[in-house]
Amino acid sequence: MTVLRCQGCGRELPRGGLKYIVELKSFADFDGYLEEYPGDIEDGIDELLDAMEDVDPNTLEEDVYMERTYVVCKLCRDRFARDPFHDSGYEEGEYAAKGTLH
Ligand SMILES: [Zn+2]
Repeated sequence: MTVLRCQGCGRELPRGGLKYIVELKSFADFDGYLEEYPGDIEDGIDELLDAMEDVDPNTLEEDVYMERTYVVCKLCRDRFARDPFHDSGYEEGEYAAKGTLH
């Protein structure tokens, strides 16, 4: 039988146990501002199309829209929800001691 593991910390997620799906979506934002193109707009479009030919379509797509799904344990779900950019400097030890079995 395949063992399911938390994609955050690698901890085993037993069958029937508590686990979470974390969905991550990101998409390009547009603030409505268009910079005026210096020169002929037709040339600009041709340049853009030429540049796009050299880029992998998947990379191009991910520049605009990206979606990821992760299966994680409660600790990783809580940690992600609390500090998605790892900038609060919280201590893993103090938090892990609260509700985890080892
Ligand atoms: Zn985890």
